Amino acid sequence: MEDPRFCAHCGAPLARAQGRPSCQRCGRVSYLDPKLAAAAMVTVDGRLLLVRRAIEPAIGKWSFPSGYVDRGEVVEAAVAREVREETGLEVAVNWLVGLYSRAGNAVVLAVYDVRVRGGEMHPGVEAMELGLFDPGSLPDLAFEHDMAIVEDWLRTRTSRTRR
Ligand SMILES: [Zn+2]
Repeated sequence: MEDPRFCAHCGAPLARAQGRPSCQRCGRVSYLDPKLAAAAMVTVDGRLLLVRRAIEPAIGKWSFPSGYVDRGEVVEAAVAREVREETGLEVAVNWLVGLYSRAGNAVVLAVYDVRVRGGEMHPGVEAMELGLFDPGSLPDLAFEHDMAIVEDWLRTRTSRTRR
């Protein structure tokens, strides 16, 4: 995601002032918010559902069903929408696994454990194929933090089922 180059108010070029893009003409600061994405940990018969990505970044690699949350959209609704679009399944959120962010990266990822309520599994337009994998033997995942997410997910799952 690139920083904006021109002022949204008057169209003049922006320059950095105290770390933030500021307009050289009207002086307004362009606040750069993080971008929220949501991902789902979906299991079918005890196996983790992964999507083989048909789009960049990480085209051809496996990852969790995920996507950006629209402004004004409830995050849990966004995760269900992304799962529906990418896998055809209808899901409901169980719990938040964690929030993932990194320095210098605009994207904040909210990861949820979800349960399948219906639908039929078929890959959407952003997926080459769908796969079900044993959580203990997953393929190479698309993003750096994906394995840490799987470990966190397994930990939250164990603590939930122990109650
Ligand atoms: Zn301006």
